[in-house]
Amino acid sequence: MPQPFAFATTLLVTAFVSAFLPAAPGRAQDLPVPQPTPLSGLAYDAPFFPNAKDDPIVPTPDSVLGFPVGSKPATHGQIEAVFKALGAKSPRCKLMEYGKTHEGRALYYLVIASVANLNRLDSLKDDLAKLADPRKVSKDEADRLAATLPAVAWMAYAIHGDEMSGADASMAVAHHLAAGEDTEVTNLLDNLIVIIDPLMNPDGRDRFLAMQAQNRTLQPSVDDQSLLHSGVWPSGRMNHYLFDMNRDWIFATQPETRGRLRAVNEWNPHYFVESHEMGPQDTFLFLPGREAINLNQPENVRKWEVEFAKAQAAAFDSRGWRYYTGEWSDDWYPGYSSSWSALRGAVANLYEQASIGTDAVRRQEGTLEPYREAVHKQLVSSMANLTFLAQNRKAVLADFVAEKRKCVGPEASIPAHTFAVLPSANGARQQRFLDLMALQGFEVFTAGESFSAQAKDRLSREMKDAKFPAGTLLIPARQPLARLLNAMLEFDPRTVPQFLTDERRDLLRFGRTRIYDITGWSLPMLFDLETFDIPSGLPAEAQAKPASFRRPVGEPIANSGAKVAFVIDGADDASVAAAGRLQERGVWVRVADKPFQFDNREFARGSVVVVRKDNANFAGDLTVTVSNICAELRLTAIGVRTGFGPGDLPDLGGEHFVLLKPPRIAIFGRDPIEPYSYGSAWHLIDHVLGLRASYLDTHNLQSTDLRRYTVLVIPDGANSDTLKIAMEPLKAWVTAGGTLVAIGSSAAALARETNGIGGARQLPDVLQKLDDYRQAVVREWEARQTTPDPAKVWAFSPPTEVIYPWLIGEKDDKTKEDEFKRRDSWRAIFMPVGTVLAGRVDDRSWLTAGCGEYVPLMYSGRTVLLAPPSVNAPVRLGVFSPAAVQPPSPAAPAPSTEGKEKKKDDTKPAPGWTIAPPGFEMRLRMSGLLWPEAADRLANAAYVTRESIGAGQLILFASDPTFRGAALGTSRIFANAIVLGPGMGASEPIKP
Ligand SMILES: [Zn+2]
Repeated sequence: MPQPFAFATTLLVTAFVSAFLPAAPGRAQDLPVPQPTPLSGLAYDAPFFPNAKDDPIVPTPDSVLGFPVGSKPATHGQIEAVFKALGAKSPRCKLMEYGKTHEGRALYYLVIASVANLNRLDSLKDDLAKLADPRKVSKDEADRLAATLPAVAWMAYAIHGDEMSGADASMAVAHHLAAGEDTEVTNLLDNLIVIIDPLMNPDGRDRFLAMQAQNRTLQPSVDDQSLLHSGVWPSGRMNHYLFDMNRDWIFATQPETRGRLRAVNEWNPHYFVESHEMGPQDTFLFLPGREAINLNQPENVRKWEVEFAKAQAAAFDSRGWRYYTGEWSDDWYPGYSSSWSALRGAVANLYEQASIGTDAVRRQEGTLEPYREAVHKQLVSSMANLTFLAQNRKAVLADFVAEKRKCVGPEASIPAHTFAVLPSANGARQQRFLDLMALQGFEVFTAGESFSAQAKDRLSREMKDAKFPAGTLLIPARQPLARLLNAMLEFDPRTVPQFLTDERRDLLRFGRTRIYDITGWSLPMLFDLETFDIPSGLPAEAQAKPASFRRPVGEPIANSGAKVAFVIDGADDASVAAAGRLQERGVWVRVADKPFQFDNREFARGSVVVVRKDNANFAGDLTVTVSNICAELRLTAIGVRTGFGPGDLPDLGGEHFVLLKPPRIAIFGRDPIEPYSYGSAWHLIDHVLGLRASYLDTHNLQSTDLRRYTVLVIPDGANSDTLKIAMEPLKAWVTAGGTLVAIGSSAAALARETNGIGGARQLPDVLQKLDDYRQAVVREWEARQTTPDPAKVWAFSPPTEVIYPWLIGEKDDKTKEDEFKRRDSWRAIFMPVGTVLAGRVDDRSWLTAGCGEYVPLMYSGRTVLLAPPSVNAPVRLGVFSPAAVQPPSPAAPAPSTEGKEKKKDDTKPAPGWTIAPPGFEMRLRMSGLLWPEAADRLANAAYVTRESIGAGQLILFASDPTFRGAALGTSRIFANAIVLGPGMGASEPIKP
């Protein structure tokens, strides 16, 4: 065994034992410490880089760390020190800081290149940008650049903080490339610029390392179920606000992602790797993945993924390591690194090593897999891929350029079409959209003139002559990042047809989906911006000009001397933050539950009104306070001189301007709450709305003094067992005036006859008594549509016939209870795993302020909420469109399952569990996979319910409204619930 590794082994054992011994003076006098029983296979001595000749001027990771690299997981601080040392000492390296985490840890990437290339990085970057945009250079020049430029390999490690091994491997790889003097390394750097992002999620990693330290045992624990390996809630996977950053590439809600996007856009990489870990008993996975694969992915990327896999497999085979490709690894959702980078044009790879955590893990066959071996596999993968890329540089770059020519320029071949986003009064939301477009590197234009064009809306309705005002944002599909742009914005992503067959068979046979993530993510839908798809390039009559990515903002206050009130328009999402933040500063705030007009200005439902008279006791300067808050939130408060609303429009002194009570918000976390649901709600309250809140432990719910709060949020994840013990205190708290908000399974747990609160129910629990729930839908629908015939109303005789608003001849399901149950359990097999559905909006509910006629919503999970007439359903699933002829309802039962019965039955069966209004068709699926059976089950169910209970209220969301911090349409409803709830739907007594 070579000398350095004997040293490494000794150090490994020493480091292991000393990790939990106090280094206090006088230790020699301590009681004897029992030494661990030797574990065969714990040490792993295989050299990482045998026979490497390194430049001694470049410090080794071992010398910086104080322990052999890879012998145990290094902290962020240790990794930072290693990379700073490489950046400072190696003439081939340049260290760049690209961002800071929420907890203040710095994020870095290290550029490693030949000395010659490192000295001309700026000009190389310019040339690389030309290669990524064929419009910038002649064809000959592009071909010359492709033949001569180095390929850029982006090697990124450990985006999931408890997937440890990649970050340790990155230090060894970086040092090898920075210091290696043998021809293998110099040849590689003649062909490549290697960019290493060693640790993408420092907050999550250090959180997990703290758990490891707390669960450290003197005797090694190699059982992967032990706390040392498993960690505790919320694990280290996510960042500070518990976002999965490997789902955030298309939404960029987190600072880590935002920094990375800027960096990647600067470099336009041709190869892109992200390292992960998977189950401890697994082996090693790399790309290519299996279907479903995003249909926007370029062909050359798919082709090269196979070639890279062969080389990586050979490297593993030569060491006898097991591995696989495909199986569970799909690439449909464009927000994972592998999918996102491939759509950007890079050949992508994904490393998934069995998670060892630290020390070693005992495997089924009794052997140990040591941590250092896991690190070694990440390292061998990295080097195999880099070597293969260097060998195939010219061919990979030639394909990269050819692919870009399909996206933009004179030879573009992908279909030309344009996304048209209507100007919105919701400034905060439009700015979020523009910001994301800029961050992703997309080209966006603005219509200088109004125009009309053939277009398709988000409900997939074709329009011959849609009208677009000046100021419409126009995003042509043909542009350098066409594939990514289409994948993010297209309304209706599909899969290859065979995938549907495979998915359905797996659902029926195993009861499990093949879909790894969600199936609908279209940005215009999640952001709920009114968007159309125009089947042509930029319309000439639009006089399009490049858009400004910064929306102009007016003065924070206008008519500041007006005597009556200040109004902040409720169309803007930021108005909710303003309402909360004004109250935190002691300002009394009212919110309008209807649109209104003062001083000839129109204001939307949900507008925030600061009445001077309400604030007679305000200690500070009211005008300055309102102005400051509006300046922070990029809003304008308009001073109004009158509270008189013309015609039937509300006046300031009436019931439509409701006084809010300052929200005192608490949100329940920890087991069994879903960390993502908790995290995105936490992020919204803390980071977007900027409101103080308390963060509580669900286990202590029963003993918590709930009187301190006026709003409680129970995110997705709890169930009736968890909540049973706290149900009585919760009920008492709500009755006394609290606003209780629950999501997903937690909402389902409250919607129960016994041990629940309120009148909403889960569909399977009320199959025998659906009439009440059907009536609620009919009433809701009639309440929007009905126009009475005055002649009939003023008639002096009773009618000879009463018209009921449902179809005559419905089957009487009461006689078929068993059949109804059987159908429902069949339909439940096909529930969506993240699909965008259309929800029709009740515009008389304060909860839906800021929503349009319908709201696209992300639906997943098993909760199906039904509301009887005593419970409001501000958003129900399905939008009704008038049908010219008697239409086939999209919510009709699937022919394969119920067709036989239909044939022998002349009466029209009710779609789903309720009755469809005659003459209308329902639009339900907007984007993503929705099986007909699930559509039938969900149509008309409630997405949100609201019900008064005593002086308080219960608000239930069937699915997570703050999904990934990107579902801005439904996040608004959630924000309304928690900020406007105390006052709008719940009341407090006047304090004498
Ligand atoms: Zn991972």
